[in-house]
Amino acid sequence: MSHSPLHLIWFRNDLRLNDNPALFNAAKAGSVVGVFFICEKQWQEHNDSPAKLGLIADRLREFSKELKQKNIPLKIIAVDYFTEIPGKLTQFCKKHAIHDLWFNNEYPLNEKKRDDQTEQELKKISVTSHRFNGDVILPPGSVLNNSGSMFQVFTPFSNAWRLRANPEILTAFKPPRKQSELAIESDEIPQFGGEYRTDLWQVTTKSIHSRLHKFVERSEQSYKELRDFPAINATSTLSPYLTIGAVGIRECIQVLIETNSDEAFHRQWLTELIWREFYRHLIATNPRLSQGLCFKPVADNLQWQVNQSNFQRWCDGKTGFPIVDAGMRQLKQTGWMHNRVRMITAAFLTKLLRIDWRLGEAHFMQHLMDGDFASNNGGWQWSASVGADSVPYFRIFNPYRQAEKFDPQGNYVRKFVPELSSINDKKIHQPSTLSCETLGYPNPMIDYASERKKTLEIWSEFLNTA
Ligand code: FAD
Repeated sequence: MSHSPLHLIWFRNDLRLNDNPALFNAAKAGSVVGVFFICEKQWQEHNDSPAKLGLIADRLREFSKELKQKNIPLKIIAVDYFTEIPGKLTQFCKKHAIHDLWFNNEYPLNEKKRDDQTEQELKKISVTSHRFNGDVILPPGSVLNNSGSMFQVFTPFSNAWRLRANPEILTAFKPPRKQSELAIESDEIPQFGGEYRTDLWQVTTKSIHSRLHKFVERSEQSYKELRDFPAINATSTLSPYLTIGAVGIRECIQVLIETNSDEAFHRQWLTELIWREFYRHLIATNPRLSQGLCFKPVADNLQWQVNQSNFQRWCDGKTGFPIVDAGMRQLKQTGWMHNRVRMITAAFLTKLLRIDWRLGEAHFMQHLMDGDFASNNGGWQWSASVGADSVPYFRIFNPYRQAEKFDPQGNYVRKFVPELSSINDKKIHQPSTLSCETLGYPNPMIDYASERKKTLEIWSEFLNTA
């Protein structure tokens, strides 16, 4: 049994042994015990999907076993809201004579406030907090333009990021060493969250690493060319694991560098990972984004349509636009949606139905396995033309053209819209040219061309008077 001072590590979106700087550094300092808070009411308020929470519960069970192999006990504390956490941690630290708390930062405003308050409260009982940036490669505030501010546009951010990210920074942190046994038992992980497709989303570290390796090995040529085609499995589908921290960002890059030498693939996949960092840096440096406001302040005055029945048809995948409906049904059935189709469905809601992007943002969060505040908010603000470096207002995705270009054989639509499974390639994206009623599929809920025209008029008038 060990008698060295005990260190507490607070796990959140970092459920992994490898590439976990808080865990790595805590274990170097002494004996470690872990804690995880189940905050069901808070998560509900944040719109976290039951499916994602179910994934976290299952991953936590695996992770607890992995920690046990290192003799690191994991305690579970249930609270309703974040505000209860400082008090619970204070009690825990007093009970176990702990003087050091270790954790990886989270960047949305609510999480940051929670962490700052915790740090202050614990200071009162002489517990020192040690904070790390495990969820990003370069910490927010460290990639700045010439005037020392956060970039407003992605490409210069990405260029500056690439210049700063040297091999040392990109190297994953090693897992902690095995420590001497402690006289503290791990808690059972209670059931929380909801059901999800366990056949699609496994939780062992082995299966997650195998997903990463297989993707990197097979993508030699294909990622750059095929990543926009939703019927093809050309992307990594690692997003749920990156979101809950079951895999580390440095681990991904290390595997990429070690396994695959294709320059174009490296560049493109890294660009996607840098988008993830860009949105995290924006969230951390601009509180407006965590307050339901638009990145572009002028856009806060846009008038959105209030139309519950149109919104519901979009949510249910019954718009009569096959590519949109396929995406919305993929989201509900699998907890994931292909990136190209996220852009198409988001553009449909905000640019053709002119419904508030915040409703779409919340609906995505309520269903996504990878629901991540920064990336989801960034993706929605981009699509609605109200965000940083967002699509210009006059670029309105044409769902027919997008479908013909990116789902040319209609295989994606056929998979998720079974009513259309017998329709041939040419007609599948415009089934209204056939008789929708006989197929049991709705007619298009809007006329694309006239809604597009209306949106352009509304936006240009808005910008002229703003
Ligand atoms: P890959 O192509 O393999 O990319 C690797 C990783 O890079 C992803 O896992 C993800 O972590 C990151 N990434 C890729 N593209 C983006 C991007 N555009 N923005 C930020 N990070 C990116 N991603 C989420 O992780 N959570 C969300 O809640 C989320 N909501 C979105 C909402 C909208 C409206 C849009 C347009 C995009 C959203 N994205 C979100 C980004 C993107 O769609 C997903 O990250 C991607 O589809 C995940 O698939 P993958 O893991 O196969 O990606």
